Amino acid sequence: MLKVSGLSKHFGDNEVLKQINLEVKRREVVAIIGPSGSGKSTLLRCLNLLETPDAGHIEIDGFEVDARRLKKSDAYALRQKSAMVFQHYNLFKNKTALQNVIEALIVTKKMNKPDAEVLGHKLLDQVGLASKASSYPAMLSGGQQQRVAIARALAVNPAVILLDEPTSALDPELVGEVLQVIRSIVDTDTTMLIVTHEMSFAREIADRVIFMADGSIIEEGDPQSLFGQPQQERTKKFLGTVF
Ligand code: ADP
Ligand code: MG
Repeated sequence: MLKVSGLSKHFGDNEVLKQINLEVKRREVVAIIGPSGSGKSTLLRCLNLLETPDAGHIEIDGFEVDARRLKKSDAYALRQKSAMVFQHYNLFKNKTALQNVIEALIVTKKMNKPDAEVLGHKLLDQVGLASKASSYPAMLSGGQQQRVAIARALAVNPAVILLDEPTSALDPELVGEVLQVIRSIVDTDTTMLIVTHEMSFAREIADRVIFMADGSIIEEGDPQSLFGQPQQERTKKFLGTVF
């Protein structure tokens, strides 16, 4: 479903991604963990060209781009295949929950408004916010805003959902409701790449866990082995500090 090879990115002298290779199968849930600054967000952002990689190939659901030969249409095409959920929700503040969810359906997918609204209500219901369709982001809690953002990501029926620390900006008491919604998406056989600090959650939902540090994938494996018997010193040290 997703294949990345030789993905590299630097900001000035800072080599943020060093030849990353990564494959994610259809319906696979992959959690990415690692210290702050290790390149996790940059990796996700490169996958839909929110950042422009220096080199490498990205293939999502049969659409392939070469970072050295990017075409104007590549970002649009990749964003049709993937949907991103950000740490800080990034909702349109002047649009209601429903309008946020259906924006891409109307603008990008050219769906007519009544059909988009039917689907939008269904998605809000799916994330437990059926009663908040007319609310503006400012009237919603952080957890509710993030659930709207997840509904918005699901709306375009992406081949893969990319979540970048979806709960790390939330007050502790709001984390659970968002994790519960993510859990329910996992149950629908979605392909997912999730950067998270929630280790027990990663352990529970992920088919595979990737540990990144300093722009490289240091180690990966099923949650049992990676958390239970990490092989690399870097991984042991990181897990030792977070548990
Ligand atoms: P993580 O998500 O693992 O915390 P990031 O991908 O956000 O790491 O950042 C990796 C490195 O890239 C950090 O050193 C960060 O300061 C740097 N970085 C990220 N985005 C930018 C940017 N737009 N300009 C310059 N440096 C950046
Ligand atoms: Mg990050």
